[in-house]
Amino acid sequence: MSSAVLSVPDTTATHCPYCAMQCGMRLSVADDVVSVEGNRDFAVNKGALCIKGWTAAETLRHPSRLLTPLVRNARGVLAPASWDDALDRIAEGVRATQACYGADAVGVFGGGSLTNEKAYLLGKFARVAVKTRNVDYNGRFCMSSAAAAGIRAFGIDRGLPFPVEDIASADVILLVGGNPSETMPPLMQYFQAQRANGGSLIVVDPRRSTTAQTSALHLRLTPGTDAALANGLLHLVLRGGYVDGEFLSQRTEGFDAVRGIAATYWPERTERITGVPEEQLVQAAKMLGHAARPMILSGRGGEQQSQGVNNTLAYINLALALGKSGQPFSGFGTITGQGNGQGGREHGQKCDQLPGYRRIDDPAARAHVAAVWGVDAEDIPTAGRSAYEMLDTIGAEDGIRALFLTGSNPVVSAPNAIHVDERFRALDFLVVSDFFLSESAQHAHVVLPSAQWAEEEGTMTNLEGRVILRRRAIAPPGEVRSDIDILCAVAARLGRGDQFNYDSVSAVFDELCRATAGGVADYSGMSWNKIEANGGVFWPCPSPDHPGTPRIFTEHFATPSGRARFHPVRHLPSAEEPDGEYPLFLTTGRVLAQYQSGTQTRRIGRLTSIAAEPFAEISPAAAKRAGIADGVLLSLVTRRGRAIARARITRDIRDDTVFVPFHWGGMGSINRLTNPALDPTSRMPEFKVCAVRLESHPESRVDS
Ligand code: SF4
Repeated sequence: MSSAVLSVPDTTATHCPYCAMQCGMRLSVADDVVSVEGNRDFAVNKGALCIKGWTAAETLRHPSRLLTPLVRNARGVLAPASWDDALDRIAEGVRATQACYGADAVGVFGGGSLTNEKAYLLGKFARVAVKTRNVDYNGRFCMSSAAAAGIRAFGIDRGLPFPVEDIASADVILLVGGNPSETMPPLMQYFQAQRANGGSLIVVDPRRSTTAQTSALHLRLTPGTDAALANGLLHLVLRGGYVDGEFLSQRTEGFDAVRGIAATYWPERTERITGVPEEQLVQAAKMLGHAARPMILSGRGGEQQSQGVNNTLAYINLALALGKSGQPFSGFGTITGQGNGQGGREHGQKCDQLPGYRRIDDPAARAHVAAVWGVDAEDIPTAGRSAYEMLDTIGAEDGIRALFLTGSNPVVSAPNAIHVDERFRALDFLVVSDFFLSESAQHAHVVLPSAQWAEEEGTMTNLEGRVILRRRAIAPPGEVRSDIDILCAVAARLGRGDQFNYDSVSAVFDELCRATAGGVADYSGMSWNKIEANGGVFWPCPSPDHPGTPRIFTEHFATPSGRARFHPVRHLPSAEEPDGEYPLFLTTGRVLAQYQSGTQTRRIGRLTSIAAEPFAEISPAAAKRAGIADGVLLSLVTRRGRAIARARITRDIRDDTVFVPFHWGGMGSINRLTNPALDPTSRMPEFKVCAVRLESHPESRVDS
């Protein structure tokens, strides 16, 4: 039970502010204290919450909360200002930048935690009010490889094409590069039920994570070798006669090209590339091959690589060869991370996309959305730069000079963060909307205090593609406003008030639904009332009488032929591999008691008491070679710079690999070191693999 001093009228059913589980919770007030409890009536978490959810209310009246706009004054200091002053300054900044450098010199950067209404409005704001083609969001760093692979193979990107309850009835699950027992613990109830039902879990991860510790088989692969592992397993599935020929002939296309490549990944070769022993490969292939209901789930491990799309396609190939995809309790899915990582990538805050998962280069899509927005189709800008490319070009001749940032903290969460921090310093004008003065907001010229999850209403789309409604439980403090209000107010100052004139947030949702009508992610049959009455509605939902679509591939896939597509994939090395100077792999991830860049969770005492500072998991052998003792601070050094973490010596990590979580700023930010090499299709940076050297560090504090 969590509590914080507040003025809240009664009990409200809402949802957690953090990950894509979007656990149902109830906020209630007694004696001016807000309490959090899990909502047993919500079908996804069934009342369970993790420590992040239990403590979420502590951010609402946190003493470091931003309560007024801040504007940087002539002395270079961020000082309190009125909303009128702040909004006028933003309009001036946008106009001045565009007068000098053109419309595209203003970038708009969003986030995967924004509600659907905000994500939709941010994309519209960029194209209609600011008129820039450069709009993207931090989900580019999260789900873009999975999304691109899903679209190629299935014609559609919905992380899980089935409800989470299907996990409990799969009989063998291959979980790749995910650690839900820390990142979304309430999801583990389904894995526990699966085991109780006689099922087995195989985990693919360089670490023996807490999830891997629950598995029947752990494949501890070398970082960056996912495509080889998937191809090697497919080789053994073929050799064992486990391929579902009937499914292949009736529901897929392109298998022959994949068969030829799989033939070249014989077990000895696969072991040589991946480091996974042949007997474990054979065991995994047998388990999957004998499964009546095989399931493959992908996390960020294989996806956040410069070969992330290929890696994901290779696992999809394996899932398709096993058959059953589209049937209950089987098939391939990816586990979305951020709270609205799914909806955030459907409604137009990506540089190449319009609402409804429409392509921005599709003339029919442009015409449809233009009609909803009340603009000419030719006035909608074309595709712009992806997230990292936008940040990387700040200050360059044809790059970004002014940035509008909301729901994101790229100075901590972007790769190559030392460089990103430098680029932020090169901005002529930066606007940040946030709850707290994040590391990115500290660079801003104007900071806008925005409302939090429990202080406003809106929809989120969870990891299953289920659209849920967050209800407002409390009023925002001070002069805080919602991002919806902020976007509409800035748009009005830029002369676009007519297109940003809504009498409620649900009116934004209704417009979003119209904009998605006929698109891939079709919400047009939804309304807030329908969502609330049904405990959520799965998209696509193309008409008011449509119940929504929990399982989307039962009859056909969303490709032109209706068949799922195989893609031939070969293993290619990561962009940077260990060598004499940088002898170890560095891989990154998350821990239970922190979330993303830590802007919220690093301010909660009960979370920092569990996870106070970054640590580096190192094997005993690697620690001995580097002369590092357990518990000391060490420097991690890559070609991009240096970061500091505390040594945690453990046999749960490969001898050639170091794992560090990414939730901290300053010298504790591991993204100072990560490699911005991008996947050629998804533009996903290679967070999960680079080469690192360990050195002892003389200080005793991470921030020293
Ligand atoms: S699992 Fe995710 S949504 Fe659920 S309580 Fe934890 S952080 Fe919140």
